[in-house]
Amino acid sequence: MGDSVSKALRERVAAAARQRCGYCMTDQRVSGAQMHVEHIVPRARGGSSHESNLWLSCAWCNSYKGIQVEAQDPETGVWIPLFNPRRQPWIEHFAWAEDATWIVGLTPTGRATVTALNLNNPYIVPARRLWALAGWHPPK
Ligand SMILES: [Zn+2]
Repeated sequence: MGDSVSKALRERVAAAARQRCGYCMTDQRVSGAQMHVEHIVPRARGGSSHESNLWLSCAWCNSYKGIQVEAQDPETGVWIPLFNPRRQPWIEHFAWAEDATWIVGLTPTGRATVTALNLNNPYIVPARRLWALAGWHPPK
């Protein structure tokens, strides 16, 4: 993923993403692992490697996303395009709950993306709890 991206391009994408995963908002500085420069529309689905199709993603989100471009809204069963972190404001589709350890989908897009990308996986939730205690989370 990140290997095919130049250092300068990676830095531009990371700066645009404010050093955060576009999906779960994990901050690069607290994650302990280099974020991926991901293809919003995966290459396997015809997505380009132009900057306009690239964003920052943590390894969890990128891995769960895989080649998905849409997922079912768990409330309605309707297939919905996944959240686009470059085009859509996170705050309109997601909210923090449970002392900022849990991400809730506010819209069909948000709910489908929470489920498809497993944004509350059992490893990230306890980490968020510790980050919150340290005052590093949720991101401002
Ligand atoms: Zn993430």
